[in-house]
Amino acid sequence: MLPPDTYRHRGQRRALVELLRRERGIQDERVLAALGAVPRHWFFEPAFDAHAYQDKAFPIGEGQTISQPSTVARQTELLELQPGHRVLEIGTGSGYQFAVLCQLAGGVQSIEFNPALYERGRARLAALGLPTAGLHLGDGSLGLPTLAPFDAILVTAGAPALPPALLRQLRVGGRLVVPVGGHDPGRQQLLRITREGPTAFVREELGDCRFVPLRGAAGWR
Ligand code: SAM
Repeated sequence: MLPPDTYRHRGQRRALVELLRRERGIQDERVLAALGAVPRHWFFEPAFDAHAYQDKAFPIGEGQTISQPSTVARQTELLELQPGHRVLEIGTGSGYQFAVLCQLAGGVQSIEFNPALYERGRARLAALGLPTAGLHLGDGSLGLPTLAPFDAILVTAGAPALPPALLRQLRVGGRLVVPVGGHDPGRQQLLRITREGPTAFVREELGDCRFVPLRGAAGWR
């Protein structure tokens, strides 16, 4: 059974969306509507429900966090998603970002490295009626070659350098949004890479950010 989405929750969610619009610079109304449509408290244990509509990251177990709403909104906005886009997320975590992406694009895939988080996220998303066929357990630093290419790839953990497999799996015209650099639990630069041709990539540096480390073959050891 779905947890209730009460009048209070809906009011808090509206206030959060207003904060993202007025104070965090999120301009894409489709992205704001997507965050307004997904009850973030569904991705929290009921005891921590009161934290769900604050603009902050929050522990989800296994030393990981659900990203703060302004980060989810910013990274999603940078992908410039269209309904038919094929999207790959690296780092399913709680499943919240996956649920937001599903509001904006059709074929969303997401990979989680940690088996306990994968199982928990899968069970939660199934209970919410979201398409769990797109969830995968594995090393997302290697992407998902069998389902490539993607119009958009979003990495929700900080990589030591641009993961080469993710660049290869980007469609021409596609965008990769990824935090790069820094040490555990360091600071990174948020990058957007746009593939303009088979060997042509445009790199934009979009400011400092702070993410948990990306693990795996192209992550931190
Ligand atoms: N997107 C998540 C959400 O909405 O809750 C938040 C993600 S959390 C900031 C980063 C996640 O990346 C963690 O769940 C972590 O286990 C996962 N992760 C780290 N390295 C990974 C890898 N190589 N492949 C897949 N997932 C990875």
